[in-house]
Amino acid sequence: MRPETAAVHVGVAKDDTFNSVITPIYPTTTFTFDSAGVTRGYDYTRSGNPTRTALEENLAGLEGGTSARCTCSGMAAITAVLFLLSAGDHVVCGHDIYGGTYRLFETVFPRYGVTFSFVDMRDPDAVRRAVRPETKMLWIETPSNPLLNVVDITAMVAIAREKGLLTVADNTFLSPYFQRPLELGVDIVVHSTTKYLNGHSDVIGGVVITGRDDLGEQIATLVNALGLGNSPFDAWLVLRGVKTLGPRMEAHQRNAFAVARLLATHPKSLRVYYPGLEDHSDHALASRQQTGFGGMVSFDLDLAALDVETFFSRLRLFSLAESLGGVESLIEQPWTMSHAGISEEVRRAAGITPGTMRLSLGIEHPDDLLEDLRTALG
Ligand SMILES: *Cc1c(COP(=O)(O)O)cnc(C)c1O
Repeated sequence: MRPETAAVHVGVAKDDTFNSVITPIYPTTTFTFDSAGVTRGYDYTRSGNPTRTALEENLAGLEGGTSARCTCSGMAAITAVLFLLSAGDHVVCGHDIYGGTYRLFETVFPRYGVTFSFVDMRDPDAVRRAVRPETKMLWIETPSNPLLNVVDITAMVAIAREKGLLTVADNTFLSPYFQRPLELGVDIVVHSTTKYLNGHSDVIGGVVITGRDDLGEQIATLVNALGLGNSPFDAWLVLRGVKTLGPRMEAHQRNAFAVARLLATHPKSLRVYYPGLEDHSDHALASRQQTGFGGMVSFDLDLAALDVETFFSRLRLFSLAESLGGVESLIEQPWTMSHAGISEEVRRAAGITPGTMRLSLGIEHPDDLLEDLRTALG
């Protein structure tokens, strides 16, 4: 099945009683046993729920994995994966990963003896140098946030195999519609389903997907033990949202190209970051490992020519908001918003400045978005 078809059909048909076309919601905490020790597959919703299973089957199918566990947030999915590690273990990850992931890695897990090295993952030698005898995991996020640097997944997998490391990819920015890391040899994929997979800015959620049975079992045990699973209602909403993933991603990308081209020549935009543009430094790599370039565009606003407050106040269609991947277009300033929790030194080193603007293009008509941006840039 092609992704557009799988998104609509996989995991969906769950009602043998009335044959409803849409998956029922099972808002129950517990399930009656037929007799002592005998269930119909479910006993307690923290451990498993049929609506959640439907979504898990759907998302595992889209990523090309064999098992998935849906969680109550993207951070919960990341937490579950980190609990595969033990005190003394070390992780190598990118220096421009999602702000919330950075905070979790920087402030929470070190208290339990798991340590992290943040490196420029576009440089495989830097990654190799950061690997220590106690390194257990390579944490990949590509394209990165907010500058859309592309990490060579195949090169990372090669290093991991050479050194015996587990590979994890945060695939939130492209969704399985435009990138499938498991097919490139990655062990585990995580998503914030809050973003493109749900796509309607109305649910916080996450998922961990793998094609390895041993890891699938460990993740299932951890999600149950830690109590990270999502609610049946939230699972149902994401399952509804994911069905339009294909058409939405095409529309997001169409708008991203239109906006990136405008910003590439606009005098008040100093630099645009979109791997779909041919002069982007990672364009060749992105074309090789991705099946599209996604709906995120960043650019450096010329603060000498236009201040941030004026720019934001003139926008009518772009909401000033964090998050991404919804049908409506959003804009944010990573310096004061999504990446404010990262030290100034690390932000600067990663290339983020107060002028850096991040856009999440929705599915509106591109001409309306271009008009809004042109007016606001003045
Ligand atoms: C949003 C996001 C997360 C965290 O997900 P939540 O659903 O907000 O907990 C992790 N990684 C990336 C790349 C994200 O964009």
